[in-house]
Amino acid sequence: MILKLRSVYQWLAVCLVLGSSQVQAFGADGHRIVVAIAKTHISPVTAAAIKGIAGDTDLGQLSLWPDSIRHLPVWEQSKYWHYVSIDDHEQFHNLQRNADGDVLSALDHFYTQLQNPDLSPRQQLEALAFLMHLVADIHQPLHVGRRDDRGGNSIGVKWLDQKKTTNLHRVWDGLLLDLDSKSPEEYGRQLNTTSMQQVAQWQSSTVLDWAKESKALRTQIYNFRPVTQSRRTLITQTYIERNRPIVELRLLMAGVRLAASLNRLFDPKHQQQKQ
Ligand SMILES: [Zn+2]
Repeated sequence: MILKLRSVYQWLAVCLVLGSSQVQAFGADGHRIVVAIAKTHISPVTAAAIKGIAGDTDLGQLSLWPDSIRHLPVWEQSKYWHYVSIDDHEQFHNLQRNADGDVLSALDHFYTQLQNPDLSPRQQLEALAFLMHLVADIHQPLHVGRRDDRGGNSIGVKWLDQKKTTNLHRVWDGLLLDLDSKSPEEYGRQLNTTSMQQVAQWQSSTVLDWAKESKALRTQIYNFRPVTQSRRTLITQTYIERNRPIVELRLLMAGVRLAASLNRLFDPKHQQQKQ
């Protein structure tokens, strides 16, 4: 068993190194913030179960792994698992879903996998990484995006007065965060001030609710007072100040809900006691 586990960690280390240049979305910082928040809301039993799967691997780093492998041929299909496309007029209940999977089906899949006692250590580690990663992704509003602009990826924007252009998706993946003076872990601690009542309310929701909330944020996301430069939309300080609290709230909600999912999986009694 020890040998088996060691090979899992070696495999993980190789994958993390291989993929480190390709990390995207939510950005790496967003994912780390979500995991940092989740860690404070999991029970000791859950924490022990996770340690049994991941050993001493840094969970923030582990949660980045699904972005780092999406371009590898063997994981090609996984690129569809990070988002769901839905146009403004469409509803989830009769949505034409991608047959190759989407973030909703992937979250269901990996949650169910983690309940399977016959999973190999490597499969458990992969499922845990995907669960941690995708709970964050579904809370990034543009991972529940419109088809025509590919969740904001096709909308070129200019960030303040910088020469370099970027796109709207990246703005919401992490550019809106104020990371200058703090680590993602510190950022998580700073955001992590909410009442138990609020935590309980957020945790009594479904994956579909999370997707619907993300979709409902489009009014704010696309609210550009049409200030353009070089025919690109300009991300102004006003836009940043108005929307930074929204990204931060989504990260907090994702962390709190990730913890609830992990507690339900690994320490169901903890949840029952709280109800
Ligand atoms: Zn992702």
